[in-house]
Amino acid sequence: MKLSIVLPIYNEEENISILYHKLTEVLQRINDDYEIICVNDGSRDKSWQVLKDLATSDHKFKILNFKNNFGQTAAMSAGIKISQGEIIIPMDADLQNDPTDIPKFLEKIKEGYDVVSGWRKDRKDDLFSRKIPSWIANGIIASITGVKIHDYGCSMKAYKQDIIKGVNLYGEMHRFIPAYASWQGAKVGEIVVTHHPRIHGQTKYGISRTFKVILDLVVVKFLSVYMNRPMHFFGGLGFVSLFLGLITGLTALGLRLFHIKYIVETPLPILSAMLIIVGVQLIAMGILAEMIMRTYYESQNKEPYVIKDKINFD
Ligand code: UDP
Ligand code: MG
Repeated sequence: MKLSIVLPIYNEEENISILYHKLTEVLQRINDDYEIICVNDGSRDKSWQVLKDLATSDHKFKILNFKNNFGQTAAMSAGIKISQGEIIIPMDADLQNDPTDIPKFLEKIKEGYDVVSGWRKDRKDDLFSRKIPSWIANGIIASITGVKIHDYGCSMKAYKQDIIKGVNLYGEMHRFIPAYASWQGAKVGEIVVTHHPRIHGQTKYGISRTFKVILDLVVVKFLSVYMNRPMHFFGGLGFVSLFLGLITGLTALGLRLFHIKYIVETPLPILSAMLIIVGVQLIAMGILAEMIMRTYYESQNKEPYVIKDKINFD
């Protein structure tokens, strides 16, 4: 089976050629049918020059150059879209992931898994800025998505082509592919991978990424549950708001009719008006969301379901 390795690259001039040789050695041992796809994500150092030099002597080493720095997820996504392998393995280009783990990923895929996630059990990164936030984030992601893997953040993962080709990636979302795939019915597995400290160059991230990841998680979860029926979400909230608005309105009316209290002394009239307006707005938003959702599916001929097998339909 043809294999594609995808490497997002942002300022990794010292790492590329070391990684290239390690990768080539491992890949040639496995099978000759492979490609290495590098996506230069607007590096400001000599990365592109290094890539070009390597590519002249090896046609399996394919390189793509972004006009600007669009981020790791975008670079990965571009590499995956252009890849031809039946199995696709993205990994970091900074030598923190180890090419010698590739055969283990392939074995696991052969066992019948559609997605195999790497688990940096012995992660060589800073404890406070990276490891602890990552443990917390992984716990939250696993419990919200319901897909129990240990290390969402490890970019070294193996995917079967048909699972990943249809997925569009935004924000920091490459890490959610296992959850997304599992919701679509894919079999998701996990293996422990080797992790090395970064020796050349610098990490591009800090603690702030954790918050971005959590925000993306909210989007992913919302889309997975309500993508096909946004009205149920907005409309549901809208009804609750309308109902509360009516109750407060009626209470205000009751106070007024039975001369218990001047309603202007209570927050009831304003509360009631506000809740009713918010309710109507939410329902209107639901209708808009429904229209957008239909445009999304119908303009791209997408279906809100995935068919596994078809028999006797020519
Ligand atoms: N990367 C990229 N674009 C970016 C940031 C990072 O292509 O804007 C690449 C980077 O070159 C590396 C991988 O993504 O190959 C992971 O980046 P990094 O090592 O900085 O992340 P960390 O391992 O610290 O989480
Ligand atoms: Mg790294």
